[in-house]
Amino acid sequence: AAMSLQNRTLLKVIVLGDSGVGKTSLMNQYVHMKFSQQYKATIGADFVTKELQIDERNVTLQIWDTAGQERFQSLGVAFYRGADCCVLVYDVNVTKSFDNLDNWHEEFLKQANPSDPRTFPFILLGNKIDLDGGNSRVVCEKKAKDWCASKENIPYFETSAKEDINVDEAFHCIAKTALANEREQDIYFQGIPDVVTQTEQKGGCAC
Ligand code: GDP
Ligand code: MG
Repeated sequence: AAMSLQNRTLLKVIVLGDSGVGKTSLMNQYVHMKFSQQYKATIGADFVTKELQIDERNVTLQIWDTAGQERFQSLGVAFYRGADCCVLVYDVNVTKSFDNLDNWHEEFLKQANPSDPRTFPFILLGNKIDLDGGNSRVVCEKKAKDWCASKENIPYFETSAKEDINVDEAFHCIAKTALANEREQDIYFQGIPDVVTQTEQKGGCAC
């Protein structure tokens, strides 16, 4: 969970989705501003960090990456423990990667076991919108948005790690959403009634 170290808030972000959808590429584009055509399967789980400012707060995003094929093997509780936000990624050109979102969503909730699954922040990224000039696309925006609406209004971004489309915007939203959730928890632990803490998060990202 979020920790404040010397006025810097550490937020743990978990990225999940089928193998090959572009999880590692999105992180590389965001953190290192680099893209590679080469596919190197992620081994086990690993994280990168990125520092940014949100509303004058210094935030460090600790972004955890994993290999999709490891879904049903245990990544260990440590991988999921204390997550502040879960980023789900699918490939708009691969139906199966979209159909699997329910499994990823469920798997995360099962493993991370957040105190309130209904308000835990997720974000969905539909990646590779650049591919073949958009001609090989099989999952339309509406379908993705409908899925998000069915899950407590998860914010949705269409991205390209290759062309650097919406990557900064998406991760900025991720940081903001995670931070908002962390603040709500702070408020909650100080004992202010639930009504106050639950209003802001619904309806997607305010950024
Ligand atoms: P991961 O298994 O989810 O981590 O997927 P990777 O990031 O390793 O990407 C899998 C393959 O898709 C690699 O060959 C990437 O170069 C490619 N790729 C990733 N993102 C994009 C994208 O936005 N557009 C295109 N055209 N290819 C991408
Ligand atoms: Mg990877």
